[in-house]
Amino acid sequence: KTPQEVKDQKILDRISKHPCYSEEAHHHYARMHVAVAPACNIQCNYCNRKYDCANESRPGVVSELLTPEEAAHKVLVIAGKIPQMTVLGIAGPGDPLANPEKTFRTFELIAQKAPDIKLCLSTNGLMLPDYVDRIKQLNIDHVTITINMVDPKVGEKIYPWIRYNRKRYKGLEAAQILHERQMEGLQALQEADILCKVNSVMIPGINDEHLVEVDEVIRSKGAFLHNIMPLISAPEHGTYFGLTGQRGPTPKELKALQDKCSGNMKMMRHCRQCRADAVGLLGEDRSQEFTKEKFMEMAPEYDF
Ligand code: SF4
Ligand code: SF4
Repeated sequence: KTPQEVKDQKILDRISKHPCYSEEAHHHYARMHVAVAPACNIQCNYCNRKYDCANESRPGVVSELLTPEEAAHKVLVIAGKIPQMTVLGIAGPGDPLANPEKTFRTFELIAQKAPDIKLCLSTNGLMLPDYVDRIKQLNIDHVTITINMVDPKVGEKIYPWIRYNRKRYKGLEAAQILHERQMEGLQALQEADILCKVNSVMIPGINDEHLVEVDEVIRSKGAFLHNIMPLISAPEHGTYFGLTGQRGPTPKELKALQDKCSGNMKMMRHCRQCRADAVGLLGEDRSQEFTKEKFMEMAPEYDF
């Protein structure tokens, strides 16, 4: 086998039980998200902050916010009821790394009580370089970064501001900092041997053509999967205040871009843009069976 084939096989082994990363696994294994991270440190023009983070989760949904203790209780209840539950992710409702205490406390509780559940996290990347060591210590081996641009001039049209080191940055400067931090984070994940998936939101007329370049850059920096998602632009999701009137791509446009980018690296085509409190197999949503009111009444049955 060539070194590349050996490397690919190692990655395949690591993702074989992860429903989001493996096409095969998503029919057999379940995942859940817990919504413990309310704050966010950047503004994406397509995000309405009344709803969950639109980078990893389904836009237009409001998840029930939990404390780390409530979240850990919920995970143990659900792991007892859904034996195929292999993965626990934190994806919102804001940015998990803009809420490091809550996010890492939740992971710690779950790692102690249910060490066989795989942990993953998604982020806009702004604070990622500061937390790669912590992520490694906690054995979180899957991280998703949303990268919508590798050129701050494109970024400027997507991000009106960021908040970094207690200061608010706007325009080109904001996009420049975000870009540098995302690249630094991606690099650090690779050095720490933590699997990294990249999400990109395809916004017609803003970054659609540019995403081919994003794909090349992230691939060269070690991301193992690129997930290009359509901008979901619907009036019921509220106003995308910076991109009012902005349309999402058609399924044909999305597929054409995914085909263009597929190159050597696998493209993820089965992402369902799940809720920040999603529960179950990817095609199903059982979140309403486990609302806070309901799961707090249930005793954890998980055997650990
Ligand atoms: Fe909204 Fe997520 Fe962007 Fe923050 S990172 S502004 S929560 S879409
Ligand atoms: Fe998986 Fe996509 Fe759902 Fe995240 S949003 S759990 S990557 S299918």
